[in-house]
Amino acid sequence: MILVMNQEATEKEIEKVKKQITDMGYHSHIIKSAGKILIDATGGKNHEGSTNLLLLPGVEKVVPLKTPYKLVSREVKKEKSIVDLGNGITIGGEEVIVMAGPCAVENEEMLFNIAEKVAEAGAKILRGGAFKPRTSPYSFQGLEEEGLKLLAEARKRTGLKVVTEVITPQDVELVSFYADILQVGARNMHNYPLLRKLGKQKQPVLLKRGFSATIEEWLMSAEYILAGGNFNVILCERGIRTFEHYTRNTLDISAVPLVNSLSHLPVMVDPSHSSGDSKLVPALSRAAIASGADGLLIEVHPEPQKAYCDGDQSLTIKDFCLLMKSLQSIAAACGRTLQEQANSSLPDCFVHVCS
Ligand code: PEP
Ligand code: MN
Repeated sequence: MILVMNQEATEKEIEKVKKQITDMGYHSHIIKSAGKILIDATGGKNHEGSTNLLLLPGVEKVVPLKTPYKLVSREVKKEKSIVDLGNGITIGGEEVIVMAGPCAVENEEMLFNIAEKVAEAGAKILRGGAFKPRTSPYSFQGLEEEGLKLLAEARKRTGLKVVTEVITPQDVELVSFYADILQVGARNMHNYPLLRKLGKQKQPVLLKRGFSATIEEWLMSAEYILAGGNFNVILCERGIRTFEHYTRNTLDISAVPLVNSLSHLPVMVDPSHSSGDSKLVPALSRAAIASGADGLLIEVHPEPQKAYCDGDQSLTIKDFCLLMKSLQSIAAACGRTLQEQANSSLPDCFVHVCS
């Protein structure tokens, strides 16, 4: 169970509650979150006594938990969390947020070109890997800090926020210096030292689901970050490994409404890694919004056939623009908004394609 202390609770009251919990056979652990003191009580059996805890001075509520995760749970926080990135950009609110860009930052010219075009089409966040966790040690591993600098420069030019992956705890400080959101990739969802380190800093985290992770394991990984004190976590379903081999992964669309019911954290969908096929990306994007996703993470490349990685699943700039346009009616039908595209200011790619 979790005990939520009221704002005015004194140290003495907190100590008294902790003692009472210990006497009941529980282990207690203090969590400071959003200006509140929570006491996490685990291991005890005296569930009847838990109602008496509510009578102790300073206790606001006692939340009995059915799940192994706590802070990420809707049982502890009923209202949906909104991650605020500044400049009016939020994830988890009414607006469906699109993050778009190349799999990897390859060079200045391609990155600035993509950034400008995806911003015109309505994306709010630029994606691009500078540290790439590749299956083969011989594949392109990313431009590292040079790539981070290019992302920061693209942000300056376009006003887009930046999301990029961090793969080791040692790089967290460096990546958070340049990025607005730190991405934990599927391969690192179980990297607990990395999750702990991310919990100890303030930058929002985009936590991808591991390709063989259950929803409970994914939420437990998010719990590591919240337990460290960082509540700015965005979940991202990116497909799981199944017996099907016609797609790179299988998009677990049911994860979206399920996670939305289990957790208050915003949830995004990555239709690019889910499918591995650019032809499937539009349909999966529409399905994601219809299922309640708070946003999309889409790979875009000006010449996908020449991409250093993940070209098969990358949309051309033109196809990305068309997709963005088609998503607006889906968002509206679901009571959401997506960046309005006023006809008078259609970006070049729309003028070419749609006129
Ligand atoms: C990526 O976003 O480029 C990436 C490597 O994704 P994932 O961790 O989901 O494979
Ligand atoms: Mn990729």
